Amino acid sequence: MSVLLEVSNLVARHGLLIAVRDLSLSVSEGEVVALVGANGAGKSTLLRTVAGAHPAAGGSVRFDGADLTGVPAHARVARGLALVPEGRKLFPDLTVEENLLVAGRRARPGQWRLETVLDAFPMLKPLRRQRASTLSGGQQQATAIGRALMTNPRLLLVDEVSLGLAPVAVDTVYESLSTLIAGGATLVLVEQDLARALSVADRVVCLLEGRVVLEAATGDVTREQVTEAYFGLE
Ligand code: ATP
Repeated sequence: MSVLLEVSNLVARHGLLIAVRDLSLSVSEGEVVALVGANGAGKSTLLRTVAGAHPAAGGSVRFDGADLTGVPAHARVARGLALVPEGRKLFPDLTVEENLLVAGRRARPGQWRLETVLDAFPMLKPLRRQRASTLSGGQQQATAIGRALMTNPRLLLVDEVSLGLAPVAVDTVYESLSTLIAGGATLVLVEQDLARALSVADRVVCLLEGRVVLEAATGDVTREQVTEAYFGLE
């Protein structure tokens, strides 16, 4: 499989705080990578920096062979990088359909358009004219993933889909993600629930204080090994 994303020696800061330290990571086409680590490990900052929503303070991000340094977020979307941000960040006063269509305006050509997204998330069909602010957490999360799909991404960066959702809603969202994965989608998934992360991912990458402390095929590590890396016990 060819390398789609190549992050090399990336540094990202929040003021004086270094959130991502000299981090290197590559993701191949069709691969599902689970990014795990404790609160504050730098997972969200990493995804946001790759997506162009946060500035890099050093290193490089290459996507499909091209250097993205200086490429703004919207142009990264046009190249096929989509972020489902933590907290979903929908337009609360727009309907589900409007949230999806707004994202589709700059879409790359591809399979995903309003009808195919609604087919992939049947729970959204009866809600299409409902304002995003009136949706449940699970419905909002489905809309946020659908919105990212509307851009026809080649790589989907998904930040904490389970956060704040009822267990049944998490199951529904993961069913949809599993369908995407079965269809060959390339994903980087930030997930607090280790068991769930290991169940869907090909590879797990664990961050601690902005660095990669463990990287392995999911079949080659135990949950205990990942947990130890997570808490810096290795
Ligand atoms: P979480 O699971 O809590 O989202 P995370 O692994 O995604 O954690 P980040 O959110 O990337 O980690 O945070 C990395 C570090 O940067 C933390 O120390 C955090 O406090 C800090 N940080 C994150 N966002 C900001 C911000 N907007 N301003 C200042 N510091 C920030």
